[in-house]
Amino acid sequence: MNTKPSFSCMDDFDPESITPDQAAEHIQSVVQPVMETETVPTMEALDRVLAVEIRSEIDVPGHTNSAMDGYAVRGQDLPVQEPKTFTLIGSSFAGHPHDGSVDSGECVRIMTGGVMPDAADTVVIQERIRAVSDTEVEISPGERPGQNVRAAGEDIAAGSAILEPGHLLGPADLGLLASVGITGVPVRRRIRVAFFSTGDELREVGEPLEDGQIYNSNRYTLSAMLRHLHVDALDLGVVRDDRAAVAQAFHDASEQADMVITSGGISVGEADYVKEVLSELGDVNFWKVAIKPGRPLAFGRIGEAKFFGLPGNPVSVMVTFYQFVRPALLRMAGATEQSPLALRVPITSSLRKRQGRVEYQRGILQQAEDGSHTVSCTGAQGSGILTSMSQANCFIVLPLEQGRVEEGTIVEVIPFSGIT
Ligand code: AMP
Ligand code: MG
Repeated sequence: MNTKPSFSCMDDFDPESITPDQAAEHIQSVVQPVMETETVPTMEALDRVLAVEIRSEIDVPGHTNSAMDGYAVRGQDLPVQEPKTFTLIGSSFAGHPHDGSVDSGECVRIMTGGVMPDAADTVVIQERIRAVSDTEVEISPGERPGQNVRAAGEDIAAGSAILEPGHLLGPADLGLLASVGITGVPVRRRIRVAFFSTGDELREVGEPLEDGQIYNSNRYTLSAMLRHLHVDALDLGVVRDDRAAVAQAFHDASEQADMVITSGGISVGEADYVKEVLSELGDVNFWKVAIKPGRPLAFGRIGEAKFFGLPGNPVSVMVTFYQFVRPALLRMAGATEQSPLALRVPITSSLRKRQGRVEYQRGILQQAEDGSHTVSCTGAQGSGILTSMSQANCFIVLPLEQGRVEEGTIVEVIPFSGIT
């Protein structure tokens, strides 16, 4: 891989670094989908990745039926000049069809979803008829032949494909599968992800903090982000800054998982043994990515498992997870790749930004009463300021070559709702 882009006009671009696009491209080229599948009941298939194409064996709706409550007649029978009286010969309610045909001058009381009787092709809604007697109704001119009827197979025709392999199954898909009578579907197996944090300063919540110690918050954000991706997550807790302990943890994690994710321990100034251990156990790149926050990023392989070494800072962990780990996990899970939805909206204040790196600032996307959108910044943007992530509902993505941003400029935002 060529990791040396030329951005001569950007003084701040570190020639040792790679762009986020280059990192993402390399990651996606190395990560391969798991091939094993299992069949799960339709009710259990939520958030699973479909392994095969699904075709319907039946028409939906299964019968031509009424879209409204009213009276079923023959379209050619409708009056053109004068009101006309029809004889009521029966009823067709949902689940209780009319047994028989409709002749000229006849009508059948029909409710929404009721099967259209033979020969009837038109429904006149009940508000537009006049009851003459218990057995007669009057219809006036102005009705259109064929109206208010849903054709058999108009949603799904028998034999047609309803879902493609790689589809991440959502609530509508489960309903769709049920609507064509499918009781179970083949899905890719869930991927297994082991994660841990490194750092002697880390304490677990519930323990008292001594001088210089901090709570292990990355364990919670990582665990939660993984839960939203519906992987099998294996939480290995904290590993001390100690060569043997780190080596053991990397080894154990890689034996048990398809992917290993760590936070901390890969920045400049951290002990070199992490790099040494990883080079003994596998093949890992230590990148400086032109991204803020999240510049140091390790990616590669430990044994058979893929490996992400994320930075330790709490915001950097989240930004690099959404930017690099999430697409890799979705690819590994076999899901069809989809770029997250990005919007372009004006920003309410100016932003400081240096050329030469992509910045993921935390923003609040708002909607005004007239329906238009703006985005504002959450304030302090340090990589340790986790409140900025908690207050935000989107990333403001400022591209590599972008310099200072003036108030009112149109910026790209990625709503959290599309990625979290
Ligand atoms: P490191 O990459 O290990 O140098 O860590 C960078 C910064 O992130 C340091 O201030 C660490 O204390 C902090 N940090 C590392 N791991 C965690 C964690 N699991 N939870 C919260 N903060 C962390
Ligand atoms: Mg550390």
